[in-house]
Amino acid sequence: MGKNKNIFKTDYLIIGNSAAGLSAAENIRKNDKNRAISVLTREKYSNYSKPLIPYYLAGSLDPGSLYFKKRNFYTENSIDLKTSENVVFVSSSDNIVLTESGSQYLYNKLLIASGGRPIMPQIKVIEKTGKSYSLGEAMNSVNGIFTLTTLDDAIRIRKHINEYSVKTASILGGGLIGLKAAEALLELHLSINVIELSDKLLSASFDKTASDIFSEVIKASGSSIYCGQTIDEIYVENNSITAYKLSSGKKITSNLLIVAVGVLPDVEYLKNSEIKTDGGIITDCSMKTSAGNIYAAGDVVKSQDVLSASERNMAIWPIAVKQGAVAGANMSGASAAYSGGFLMNSVEILGMPVISLGLSSIDNEDSTQDLKVYKAYDMGRKIYRKIVIRQNRIIGAILIGAIERAGIYCGLINNNVDVAEIGQNIVKEDFGLIQLPADYRKHLVVGEGIEV
Ligand SMILES: Cc1cc2nc3c(=O)[nH]c(=O)nc-3n(C[C@H](O)[C@H](O)[C@H](O)COP(=O)(O)OP(=O)(O)OC[C@H]3O[C@@H](n4cnc5c(N)ncnc54)[C@H](O)[C@@H]3O)c2cc1C
Repeated sequence: MGKNKNIFKTDYLIIGNSAAGLSAAENIRKNDKNRAISVLTREKYSNYSKPLIPYYLAGSLDPGSLYFKKRNFYTENSIDLKTSENVVFVSSSDNIVLTESGSQYLYNKLLIASGGRPIMPQIKVIEKTGKSYSLGEAMNSVNGIFTLTTLDDAIRIRKHINEYSVKTASILGGGLIGLKAAEALLELHLSINVIELSDKLLSASFDKTASDIFSEVIKASGSSIYCGQTIDEIYVENNSITAYKLSSGKKITSNLLIVAVGVLPDVEYLKNSEIKTDGGIITDCSMKTSAGNIYAAGDVVKSQDVLSASERNMAIWPIAVKQGAVAGANMSGASAAYSGGFLMNSVEILGMPVISLGLSSIDNEDSTQDLKVYKAYDMGRKIYRKIVIRQNRIIGAILIGAIERAGIYCGLINNNVDVAEIGQNIVKEDFGLIQLPADYRKHLVVGEGIEV
């Protein structure tokens, strides 16, 4: 820990300057115009949108376009932003947060919105000299091995591609972040190798058909997909990655590897606090943790998946924003509840857009659970639509190619609408408002409305 012993006092302290943290800050300010709000981030930037990082990597957005809050957001809301402050300890009994620089922050209410950290698989990294170490150690020292979860990661990858004139890149992990990386690298006309342990891409959301359609498009660009495989060993020479060996034994030459096997709630620095964690911070529906005046929101928490009725980590932007808003309201004296959410993904590879919602990987009908699966293909146009229905309610959807109606499906899931009378029409490309149950249509016109 550094020597710089600054002591700051604040009313509302927020760890995290992203989707959840800033949504909370904004909602606190709505209810409490006067008390002090401080936001800590270990990064050096004001704010930026993580979902836009791949567009920066692809060269289609400059760093200045990545902000999701106006430049004057902090001054307008009287928020004291402290960048490059890495929190290393939370003393929940003393209401104190300590940072790596040695600063202490005393708070009345604390929000933990520090997101997740990339998972590091156990892979042996071997130097030409015979020396070996773990992938985790290599991340900090070996040229050409990266994760893609922060803007700094994207800046480093871009620099590496330019400096070493990289023509082929490898991505370990065919999940959301892996595919987002693929999207960016294909835009840069690189050829890619995607290595995925499961038998399909985006395994949490795709079925085999969706994965095959995507794989075909990627392969047609001269790239390769290795499903059902992982990397056993990585080879390093002169401090740079040169090649790796797949579990099949195949050796692949590569000077760029992006490790994207998932993100886990980053709760390491909370282990000596009273905050209960179990693969993520546990909160109640007001987003309050087990420690009285401490709240948590976003990727760092475990929360209710309304479709699978389970508690899990759901690392997506809209959920982080919603949870942050609920936490901020409750921290500042209002009353709000988070009632759970469901996963959504959206990726576009080589001009082929895909959206998946909820429990979309379910592929088998099951009469005991009243589970139906409707599918529609147009392989010529590379259009695939699938809707999963349980007890007459939509619980999952995959839309490839024609994604325009995603908002309607999303609304039907959110509002738990009975779609029994729609039948097979629900999966048709021209499915729209006219086929919706009359009372729901009316609700759309005169009621809250949903984005369509
Ligand atoms: C490449 C990529 C693409 C994505 N694309 C999509 C998408 O298309 N759609 C979608 O819904 N979601 C997407 N996501 C996921 C989405 O970005 C996250 O769900 C969302 O950012 C979570 O917000 P958060 O506020 O919980 O945490 P984060 O956005 O992870 O922010 C965490 C904040 O906490 C700070 N922090 C962390 N630890 C500390 C510490 N110890 N001390 C001080 N500060 C700390 C960080 O600096 C940061 O400010 C994507 C993610 C990535 C990485």
